[in-house]
Amino acid sequence: MNDLLPWHLKTWNHIQEARRQNRLPHALLITGALGLGKARFARQLAESLLCEQPQEHGLACGHCRQCQLLHAQSHPDLRMIVPEEGKAQIGIDAVRALVAGNTLSVGRNAYRVFIIDPAESMGRAAANALLKTLEEPIEGTLIVLLSARIDRLPITIRSRCQLLKLAAPAEDDAIAWIESNTPAGAGKAAQLLQLANGAPLRAPDLIESGALEKHNRLLDDFVAIAMGKTSAVQVSEVWLKENQPAQLLVYMASWLMAVIRQKMIPQAETAFPGLQSLLERLDLRLAYRLLDKLYETERASMNNLNPQLALESILLEWSRVANGES
Ligand SMILES: [Zn+2]
Repeated sequence: MNDLLPWHLKTWNHIQEARRQNRLPHALLITGALGLGKARFARQLAESLLCEQPQEHGLACGHCRQCQLLHAQSHPDLRMIVPEEGKAQIGIDAVRALVAGNTLSVGRNAYRVFIIDPAESMGRAAANALLKTLEEPIEGTLIVLLSARIDRLPITIRSRCQLLKLAAPAEDDAIAWIESNTPAGAGKAAQLLQLANGAPLRAPDLIESGALEKHNRLLDDFVAIAMGKTSAVQVSEVWLKENQPAQLLVYMASWLMAVIRQKMIPQAETAFPGLQSLLERLDLRLAYRLLDKLYETERASMNNLNPQLALESILLEWSRVANGES
């Protein structure tokens, strides 16, 4: 847990350099998709600031008195501000505590860190209270906002924070992380990464919820349609009983992109080997056309269409695409 994630390294070095030069901002806004490790990064940064003897690359030592308090989750100078249990929003009271600035400091470097996660869950009153603090920063206090959806944050807040964007990992790094941190075997890591939209820390949840098995059953149906073993009408009916239309569109788009990529670069590795047998007869031009149709359906929001009819139409076209018929 204490190691840096490889895809955090560049951003980490950047912020540590700012720290060495005493240029740390009063407020950071860490963004990046769900599953890239924003909370982990923020916590490691907080520990790094509170530790008495950080290691050479800035990570906390793990042994000093501050680190011991941190490990016991009882360091008075690190506060996590999250929605209360059972509530979707962060209330004003939580932010008021921050504004009051009454936390007792025991750290030698006298830093205090507040992590607000996720920042977009602050209600209007909470956001306004925070804004006051951002306008009149408290010396020695770092406020770290985490958000996968900064479009949902008031611009007044965004503009007063230094933005740190966590990049998505290189595929190799991401797969290596999934392989060594989840029970997924080598074969499944690539698939999980695909399902997780490239964000490896989502993989454990996907495994636990059985999402991978469910996805693979849907993919089997998709292949069966292409092979003429089942009908688009039948599959549509079954799929819609158990799945959100939007999720089905996302899956189908990722499968189509995978076959298109394989058709163009045959030696490329694929996360969906099940589709391989279809490549020979597949018509590339028609595949692109179907992908367009999928995106169009997504934009029109399937909920405004008749989902059964829209899905049947897509799957019927898929059976033609997979067999090279226009
Ligand atoms: Zn330490």
